[in-house]
Amino acid sequence: MDAKPNPTFSGRIALVTGASQGIGETIAFELAKEGPLVVLVDIQREKLEAVAERIARSGGRASVQTADVSRFDQAAAVVEGVVGEHRRLDYLVNNAGITRDNLLMRMREEEWDAVLAVNLKGVFNFCRAAIRPMISSRFGRIVNISSVVGVMGNAGQANYSASKAGVIGLTKSLAREVAGREVTVNCVAPGYIMTAMTESLPEAVKKAFLEMIPMKRMGTPEDVAQAVKFLLSDQAAYITGQVIHVNGGMYT
Ligand code: NAP
Repeated sequence: MDAKPNPTFSGRIALVTGASQGIGETIAFELAKEGPLVVLVDIQREKLEAVAERIARSGGRASVQTADVSRFDQAAAVVEGVVGEHRRLDYLVNNAGITRDNLLMRMREEEWDAVLAVNLKGVFNFCRAAIRPMISSRFGRIVNISSVVGVMGNAGQANYSASKAGVIGLTKSLAREVAGREVTVNCVAPGYIMTAMTESLPEAVKKAFLEMIPMKRMGTPEDVAQAVKFLLSDQAAYITGQVIHVNGGMYT
């Protein structure tokens, strides 16, 4: 890896969900440069293994665990396994997310349920599993990935916006519950970022988004990963219950 391992991250254990592509893959890759072992969680093992190999080729350390984040039992099993093996879990990044866009008047119940199950219940599931070991070791950093539309709303994304607003509420509440135990809980809210999720949007929607961004460009997964890394660092020890917006000025 290009960067020298950072002593504050070295020897620690991180878990990133939705790590097989996009923002999650980049967070895992950038974090691994700092020295912790990164546990990559996603649904498809093959894709995860490819990311783990990429990290290993660059001198970082990663292991893979398959889980559907919307499943309470699977989240609990992954975290139990990690804590059983390493005796700790220091960093949790809840990044897995999906979209099922539709105008509310046409939205099917399954579209609502699927998005809330992954984007909001998934965050609950992993926080619920991780919080006890973090409290016991009197150290923990949780970063939940919300979205700009969780604060500003977006036509055609009532389910997604509700899930991402919910993530902010969950984050602020949990932050208050565990602040006295040296565990911090924060959100990063990306704007319009170049990944597979945005690549599939209709051209007209992409153009409309770009027009809303004062910086006149899409963000990159690296832009998001740097904010996550800061919130996980020891330098961010006194920051909790906050939302860092990474959106090129799209919403202030
Ligand atoms: P992405 O490229 O679609 O990646 C999402 C990842 O999450 C995929 O690897 C996906 O796996 C995984 N995933 C989906 N459902 C899962 C489940 N039930 N259990 C475990 N893993 C699951 O999306 P992205 O753009 O990187 O987005 C990452 C996060 O940033 C999401 O929370 C998203 O809402 C948020 N965000 C993105 C943007 C943006 O502009 N891209 C903006 C704001 C917020 P599969 O591919 O196998 O399904």
